[in-house]
Amino acid sequence: MAFSDDTRNELARVIPTARCCRLTELYALYELDGFLFGSHNQYLDFNNSSPLVARKILKLVKGLYPDFPTQTLVVKSRSRRTQMCTVRILGRVSAERIYGDFKKLSVKKDSGIPRKKCCRRAYLRGAFLSRGSITNPEKTYHLEISTEQTMLADKILTIILSLGLEAGITHRKGSLVVYMKDGQQIVNLLNLMGAHGALLHFENIRVMKDMRNQINRLVNCETANVDKTVNAALKQLEHIKTLEEHIGLEELPPKLAQVARVRLENPYASLQELGELMIPKMSKSGINYRLRQIREMAQQLDNLDPKS
Ligand SMILES: [Zn+2]
Repeated sequence: MAFSDDTRNELARVIPTARCCRLTELYALYELDGFLFGSHNQYLDFNNSSPLVARKILKLVKGLYPDFPTQTLVVKSRSRRTQMCTVRILGRVSAERIYGDFKKLSVKKDSGIPRKKCCRRAYLRGAFLSRGSITNPEKTYHLEISTEQTMLADKILTIILSLGLEAGITHRKGSLVVYMKDGQQIVNLLNLMGAHGALLHFENIRVMKDMRNQINRLVNCETANVDKTVNAALKQLEHIKTLEEHIGLEELPPKLAQVARVRLENPYASLQELGELMIPKMSKSGINYRLRQIREMAQQLDNLDPKS
């Protein structure tokens, strides 16, 4: 998951300049992994497994609400392998004020997605920071954001589509997963979210992979063809040598003798090319027919296995 972590760490350092985007990104982080709770709504929590993202959340909160009391909690699992960081807004007034500001964000009535494009990008960044992951492009092209809430999965998908990108949605172990599988589409999303370092890394690997595939395809294709042509030509040359040694080419019927000579002079030519060199020109199948006659004569002379 190193690539995914790198991408998340990079995005954790991106702080949008516009207030609308800061608040929207915070809202995404809240919607995907936050709660307003307590008997009097006295806490508003943002949860995230990454301390870097928690630090970003705190920075966004402090930038928007400098005087609000906050608390940061880190809870490690028993195995100490995973942890949950919580940025908590303390007190009903603060918690409800932030929640109220979330609800005042300018969104489209039907879909609930941010009206402004800048904010849609910010929302996706927040969603990715909360529940997103990206596979190392060396292995495969895959980016996803998962959530248990159908409404949020639909919202994320709608935002991605509204930005002109393609994505799908699938179920996995009780979660909905919004995913992208196309390399170019993932690059575009990384760009929109502002993960330029990850984008460059991704592109480098993609270019290398494409080139490797293309070279492999070419090499495979050419090797197969060349092998076939060369092997056939080598056999023909052997047969011609046999005839030359045993009876001499001048003793052959003129047409066979001409094909034999042209082949000797052009050991690497294809049948079609040999046909072009004949006087008069001959079709590929005509050449093939005569080479077969040469082979049969040579096999009789040599007492070769007729299959060779
Ligand atoms: Zn904005």
